Amino acid sequence: MRVLITGAAGFLGSHLCDRFLAEGHEVIGVDNLITGSIANLEHLAGNEKFLFIKHDVTNYIFIEGPVDAVLHFASPASPNDYLRYPIPTLKVGALGTHKALGLAMEKGARFLLASTSEVYGDPLIHPQTEDYWGNVNPIGPRGVYDEAKRFAEALTMAYQRYHDLDTRIVRIFNTYGPRMQKEDGRVVPNFIAQALRGDDVTIYGDGSRTRSFCYVSDLVDGIYRLLMSNEREPVNIGNPTEMTILQFAEKIIELTDSKSKITFIEPTDMRIKDDPKVRQPDITKARQTLQWEPKVSLDDGLNAAIAYFRPLI
Ligand code: NAD
Ligand code: UDP
Repeated sequence: MRVLITGAAGFLGSHLCDRFLAEGHEVIGVDNLITGSIANLEHLAGNEKFLFIKHDVTNYIFIEGPVDAVLHFASPASPNDYLRYPIPTLKVGALGTHKALGLAMEKGARFLLASTSEVYGDPLIHPQTEDYWGNVNPIGPRGVYDEAKRFAEALTMAYQRYHDLDTRIVRIFNTYGPRMQKEDGRVVPNFIAQALRGDDVTIYGDGSRTRSFCYVSDLVDGIYRLLMSNEREPVNIGNPTEMTILQFAEKIIELTDSKSKITFIEPTDMRIKDDPKVRQPDITKARQTLQWEPKVSLDDGLNAAIAYFRPLI
């Protein structure tokens, strides 16, 4: 296949490029580098099966030759990033998804949208199943991301229903691993960087919020299987092992063998407004339709992430 990946220079996009190349496909990576880094793709320089195009996908995407699949991953993804870039986030979810769908139509390609557990907002159903419609504040600070992704899902389903485009939607739950930006503000790089520096590990709120963390290779495998499957409705991909942020902070301090202390802060900016209190994927559908489930334990995954961040700190 010839596969186009938007957001290719980002954390997940770059790992997807690697996976598709390893499976023998050709990859075109498109990115405007707003939150990604070309360093994530440096190892692919000179690879004849890989082409990088620097482009903002909210503008028309012109590609010569055939394309068999379009994977739309371009979007700021860290709460810090989408609070810093609210309008680009809304634009890439709306206009960028429109352009990526248009490209898939033009080429007769399969289309896969990177959606998110944030479509469930601050969930009232726990764990979250794909048939839950969510609890999102459209006008809160997170609304720029959540509503952009909800619009992107609606647009994708409209192209499937009205243009008969062959589409997939993955709802990604918190994923971590090498190539996350160390300053991107998400809890995994933040806590690892703080622990490695010996700085205080900063918990927002009282530490009782929960998340469930998936290692990147597991997520990429789930996405690959979804693209190759016939499943046209949204599928949750994530690791259901749930913990409080306090437990997570303690785990990072243990694995880094750090002397850091834990502090509880209430950020004065809008970082924790509407911050979901709990999050855990129900992955029954992925298990049944994709024969997928995560394989990497939290300790193994975090040790790999820590090994990546250590020389960067
Ligand atoms: P990331 O910030 O590392 O990667 C996003 C990439 O998109 C960056 O390289 C950025 O430069 C690029 N981009 C943004 N706007 C663009 C535009 N207009 N044109 C071209 N490129 C643009 O984030 P990530 O964690 O790799 O997330 C990738 C995708 O997965 C996002 O769509 C995100 O919403 C989704 N997702 C990720 C997670 C996670 O835990 N990592 C969870 C849920 C959903
Ligand atoms: N968090 C925290 N300290 C940090 C960064 C994040 O306590 O330094 C919390 C945040 O409030 C949220 C959870 O960790 O409850 C996960 O945050 P992240 O930014 O990774 O992404 P989210 O899951 O909210 O999209």
